[in-house]
Amino acid sequence: MTPTDIPQATAPITQDVLTLPRKMPEGGDGRINIIGLTRDQLRAALIDAGTPEKQAKMRVGQVWQWVYHWGVRDFGQMTNLAKDFRALLAEKFEIALPEVVTKQVSRDGTRKYLVRIAGGHEVEVVYIPEEGRGTLCISSQVGCTLTCSFCHTGTQKLVRNLTAGEIVGQVMLARDDLGEWPVQGAPKDETRLVSNIVLMGMGEPLYNFDNVRDAMKIVMDNEGIALGRRRITLSTSGVVPEIARTAEEIGCLLAVSFHATTDEVRDKLVPINKKWNIATLLAALRTYPNLSNSERITFEYVMLQGVNDTKEDAYRLIELIRGIPAKINLIPFNEWPGAPYKRSSGNRIHAFADILYNAGYATPIRTPRGEDIMAACGQLKSATERARKSKTRPEGETGL
Ligand code: SAH
Ligand code: SF4
Repeated sequence: MTPTDIPQATAPITQDVLTLPRKMPEGGDGRINIIGLTRDQLRAALIDAGTPEKQAKMRVGQVWQWVYHWGVRDFGQMTNLAKDFRALLAEKFEIALPEVVTKQVSRDGTRKYLVRIAGGHEVEVVYIPEEGRGTLCISSQVGCTLTCSFCHTGTQKLVRNLTAGEIVGQVMLARDDLGEWPVQGAPKDETRLVSNIVLMGMGEPLYNFDNVRDAMKIVMDNEGIALGRRRITLSTSGVVPEIARTAEEIGCLLAVSFHATTDEVRDKLVPINKKWNIATLLAALRTYPNLSNSERITFEYVMLQGVNDTKEDAYRLIELIRGIPAKINLIPFNEWPGAPYKRSSGNRIHAFADILYNAGYATPIRTPRGEDIMAACGQLKSATERARKSKTRPEGETGL
């Protein structure tokens, strides 16, 4: 099997999620980047590079541990490998992460990284430290094909999907910055700085399914970063045909950008609803927890003044999701310049939350974090873009 023909034919292919054949990620000099290769792909690539087939599995395990458990970036440091094998690795492979262009640290400890990927495109990664956990919000695409009317990313065209390596790379560079790789010989430290991952940055992860899956498999692999599947939450706007696959092939927790309780309103807020409406989405969600054995689905609900924030909405939401193990995450709208909506008042948000809470649902209201560095959902990239645009445009004409 060559690295490029890992079988994928068993997955249903719909028109929207056609899987394009993927090229081996190569650096400028023809070396293959190890980051992002699945175990099978790495094995095939090692054999291609001249590793005897009999040794290949063991070699994969060794290289894997160095790269994903110890965080080593230099083949020369892989001390349990023979010198000539290390030389072969250095000649044919590289260990390359996306480049951190800027890092901002908020007063509340939230960190935001602007990360440059091949082609000069940029995405943002946000680290949110909380009591007893640290959540890393990562991106799956540059821009988005969908056009949710309240989302700043939705105003930016899709530039491209991130590769599996660029997705895993976001996790690795956050660990670099936090100094989280284990130190050889030091006592084992079980505290996790990046303890949770949310795919809630830029892009629709289920429109980049294969790369997101491969990246999350690497993150979950026990011989490496080893984050449990329940520590990963994938947020989708509702790409129904990929929901069952998410349960089967990734097995992580699911969050859904629900945001409305009638098709009429959801059509406007989350236009993918015109393709897969509320009833179709809910039917897919009802099967998810059994498939993935996960506890609850998170329903994300952005609070928009006068649009989706009435008591009637709250009661309708309860009726709609009845029977689904759920928690409801209320997100006060993060306003961005030119946005066609306003954030609901605090009173409205609390009244809405109370109704859901009294119906038995955990209803956290997302507290804005990292506001001084514009690190909130739907604002990723916008601050950076704004800064850049304001250099070239007169004030009041930011083009956003
Ligand atoms: N594309 C995926 C994941 C990225 S968006 C999705 O839509 O689910 C992550 C979450 O932030 C989603 O629930 C999204 O609806 C929400 N969001 C986007 N823009 C926002 C804004 N301006 N204010 C509050 N939440 C926003
Ligand atoms: Fe894309 Fe999600 Fe934003 Fe909708 S909310 S435009 S799916 S990133």
